[in-house]
Amino acid sequence: MPASRTPKRKTSKADDTALRRAIIDHCLAMNATGFNQGTSGNISVRQGEAMLITPSGIPYAAMTPEMIARLPLSGGREDAEGPKAPSSEWRFHRDILNARPEFDAVVHAHAPYATALAMTRRGIPASHYMVALFGGDDVRCADYATFGTQALSDAALAALADRNACLLANHGLLACGPSLEKAMALAVELEALARQHHLALQIGGPALLSPRQMAETHEMIRALNYGRG
Ligand SMILES: [Zn+2]
Repeated sequence: MPASRTPKRKTSKADDTALRRAIIDHCLAMNATGFNQGTSGNISVRQGEAMLITPSGIPYAAMTPEMIARLPLSGGREDAEGPKAPSSEWRFHRDILNARPEFDAVVHAHAPYATALAMTRRGIPASHYMVALFGGDDVRCADYATFGTQALSDAALAALADRNACLLANHGLLACGPSLEKAMALAVELEALARQHHLALQIGGPALLSPRQMAETHEMIRALNYGRG
């Protein structure tokens, strides 16, 4: 029988509650570490043909599992189930999960260093080999569009082509992964990289790795992942 990452069986009540609780725990951790501030971050996780997504404007400390909204991936905000409206950024969460079946979770935050770079509308070039972790030879900065709009979702998807993360101009960061834990780990790595890149810019600017050096890095990462499989 072929393996499937997203089981088609109906999610049990216990699994559903555990997933909702995991989303809240990751939100709380984002703020406790200074990675995110207030309620600006949002998280979604695929659940069958729908996604669970953080509600709009609720302080994380006051969030309970039932407040996490459930929105069909074929629908819009009006189709969301739950006592609270889904995050105002539901469009890019839904569109990424629809367009990129390899991802089951999306993390968005206004992490300070990634956001500072995004405010200059600059992505992160190959200034460190860890850039390869995000799928290519750079981390792109998506074109600017107003928050919550379809235009922002379209810009984000374009910037995510062949990548698992991007910056959003004058806004923040996005990271995607095959699980909530992996998406969050990538988001944290991206913020660390943005901080290091920012520091290098202060002291004359980084030397960039060549396409050949990055190709060797990608090759090494592939080999390590293969070994782990
Ligand atoms: Zn935002």
